[in-house]
Amino acid sequence: MLQQIIKKINCPNCSVENEVILWEKVNVDMNPDLKEKLFTEKINNLVCNKCGFVSRIDIPFYYNDAKAKFFIYLVPEFPIDKKEEDLLLANLRSQTLNILDSGYNNRKRIVFEYYNMLEKILIFDAKLDDRVVEGCKILARTQLKLMEGRAAFHKFENDELAFNFFEKEEKEAAKSFSVPKAMYDEIAEIINKKDLESGDNFRIVDVKYAVRMLMN
Ligand SMILES: [Zn+2]
Repeated sequence: MLQQIIKKINCPNCSVENEVILWEKVNVDMNPDLKEKLFTEKINNLVCNKCGFVSRIDIPFYYNDAKAKFFIYLVPEFPIDKKEEDLLLANLRSQTLNILDSGYNNRKRIVFEYYNMLEKILIFDAKLDDRVVEGCKILARTQLKLMEGRAAFHKFENDELAFNFFEKEEKEAAKSFSVPKAMYDEIAEIINKKDLESGDNFRIVDVKYAVRMLMN
């Protein structure tokens, strides 16, 4: 399976044309070193051969962990409306029907931002359910009045889920907060009762999902 493409891209700084090798798919069990490169943002970068300027090239990107069985599809463009979103989900479903077995159920996701992909990887690596993590996040943020900006799962340690909080547009975390595992378990119970969709579809599990599950 071809995993890389070569593209000609003009440097956003000096406009010189560069040839860049871009990864479209990462099978983490086959290329474990690529995972680290994802987290350190050393992948799909254009390093200009003339001026040295570094910029990330956002292309549609698959991340597949065949051992832990989760699949994340990063789409750099938000769907415009519900119709476009449904089409995207349906296409992805038909493309992956023969690749992903039922072991992937409830761990097939679409994200629209690079950092959301990294967060999903951390959540699934910690053997947590991202639907429940989103629930924990929205409840804690409401309570702490941390609504402007974004929160991201960081790690699961000492029976607590730790989150980082980023002020608007900031790259470094300004604050952090944690949620006890007992609360996670309570929310898991609510979501398992309320979420009746079968797990074999690709889904967008984000703050809107959490609001639908817990705030309505
Ligand atoms: Zn340049």
